[in-house]
Amino acid sequence: MGKRKKKKVKPISIYPKSKKWISAHYDLYLLSDHWQRIKDAWVKSGRPMKCYICYSFDNLQFHHRSYRNLGQEKLDDLLVLCEMCHKEVHYRYNHRKGKHTTLWNIAERMVRERERQAWSKRTGVNDLVPLI
Ligand SMILES: [Zn+2]
Ligand SMILES: [Zn+2]
Repeated sequence: MGKRKKKKVKPISIYPKSKKWISAHYDLYLLSDHWQRIKDAWVKSGRPMKCYICYSFDNLQFHHRSYRNLGQEKLDDLLVLCEMCHKEVHYRYNHRKGKHTTLWNIAERMVRERERQAWSKRTGVNDLVPLI
């Protein structure tokens, strides 16, 4: 192998090398053009640009509901969440008790809680047991 010149690479042109690389440089990954292309693909696909949980249009962020395809994300691995719901999902995940609690089912659980809250408001029935 010949000598290779070390090039200085701007964050925006970084391409994810491996899951290991991404975990170590997650902030840089989120600045990569690769990640930008995935977000563009989401918009082009016509998927909703609103919070999956509370339907807010404000302060939207992309959330990985699963990291299994990190670097080669499928759109189904992602969710659009508002900043507040996003924080809540990760808070619950970081404080989870059971092994079966995943990022995936926390978001689904929060959707069900929202629906129950809305139902409770509509019907005036207020005997809800928290789902946590
Ligand atoms: Zn939200
Ligand atoms: Zn997230």
